[in-house]
Amino acid sequence: TATGHARILTVLGATGSIGLNTLDVVRRHPERFRVHALTASTNVVEMERLCREFRPRIAVMADDQAAQQLASAITDLAEVSVLSGEAGLIDVAATDAVDTVMAAIVGAAGLAPTLAAVNAGKRVLLANKEALVMSGQLFMDAVTRSGAQLLPIDSEHNAIFQCLPPDRVRDLPGAGVRRILLTASGGPFRSHSPEQLRQVTPAQACKHPNWSMGQKISVDSATLMNKGLELIEACWLFNTTPDHIEVHVHPESIIHSMVEYVDGSVLAQLGSPDMRTPIANGMAWPERVESGADSLDLFALGRFHFERPDTERFPCLRLAAEAFQRGGTAPAILNAANEQAVAAFLDGVLCFADIPVIIERTLSAIEVGPATDIERIMAADRQARDHARGEIQRLAPGPMA
Ligand code: NAD
Ligand code: MG
Repeated sequence: TATGHARILTVLGATGSIGLNTLDVVRRHPERFRVHALTASTNVVEMERLCREFRPRIAVMADDQAAQQLASAITDLAEVSVLSGEAGLIDVAATDAVDTVMAAIVGAAGLAPTLAAVNAGKRVLLANKEALVMSGQLFMDAVTRSGAQLLPIDSEHNAIFQCLPPDRVRDLPGAGVRRILLTASGGPFRSHSPEQLRQVTPAQACKHPNWSMGQKISVDSATLMNKGLELIEACWLFNTTPDHIEVHVHPESIIHSMVEYVDGSVLAQLGSPDMRTPIANGMAWPERVESGADSLDLFALGRFHFERPDTERFPCLRLAAEAFQRGGTAPAILNAANEQAVAAFLDGVLCFADIPVIIERTLSAIEVGPATDIERIMAADRQARDHARGEIQRLAPGPMA
């Protein structure tokens, strides 16, 4: 940093797509960033490699058996201690030894450690959108109370953040903002007919046209649930409502989102589709550092396209907006049902077009309650998963039926 102190990091979800991109930015700036802790779920081989390169003080495997395997694989690295389980994740997210936490675990599993980092007042680089979607008000209240510095890593939200005055990020009327234009790639099946949508395979869904990402978010991009989660994420981050946000399908994924002001000015953030740009932006903020992303070549691109999202073929965007409007535990129920449905699709037991069906049925079956503490939110999450599992079996009776 400008004052010469290196930022000390915990990377939650270090072996994932965002985690590895984060570590690539660290690798480019060893004088600015130091790694204190790395965490992963089960991938011991990748974690061992990362421990050898980055020499963290602590490595956490969420899975106990994986932690034992890692410990025996790195007995020669005396300086690296191995922890396990959710307690280990929370420990390295909140420790006084770090000032910055990259929250890049996928799904609800990231909620407790991400909230721990927020409560400890860290600079929290938020990639794990599901954590904020599930806990909305609770999460933002914790940010205010602890003085944590919340910086969005999701490319759209990072773009919006860059297009807003830094002191008015949660006061859009005060900033003179008319609306947010949230861009979406539309995913790989943007032009598929309803009939074609029933036939798509997990391999096709995981091959995103513009971004290389983890499996879960790739499927979410294909169903447009990713944009639904991002709509909710934007409402919390920028203290606004869905009627001030308009989704624009922009298949090139070069404009990462836009902000329209009352005087008619529209500010956009553009760049090659490379997550190292928003990651480096959050890590170095308010400074700028090289991220490794390619320079933008507009001549090669030639033109941009825009279209409205089709919520008939892709109902997930509408389901997410409705869940946000209902409030309470509804977004946590939406998220949990989606996680179960996506896992079932990836396992080959649920058809792609039935993902929104599972979510809609779960949302109408489960009673929405107040989302005032993490226990209530996690209880809604468990209840929704149980219900969704039942709905999945009814729709797609597999070998168990
Ligand atoms: P990924 O699947 O590539 O990686 C997930 C990471 O989380 C891995 O390190 C894995 O070990 C860890 N993890 C998984 N389950 C866990 C559990 N139960 N307990 C502890 N750790 C667990 O996912 P990703 O694509 O890197 O996405 C991470 C988050 O960032 C997601 O919330 C995603 O929506 C968000 N995000 C990703 C991208 C992207 O380009 N990949 C862009 C924007 C936002
Ligand atoms: Mg995004």
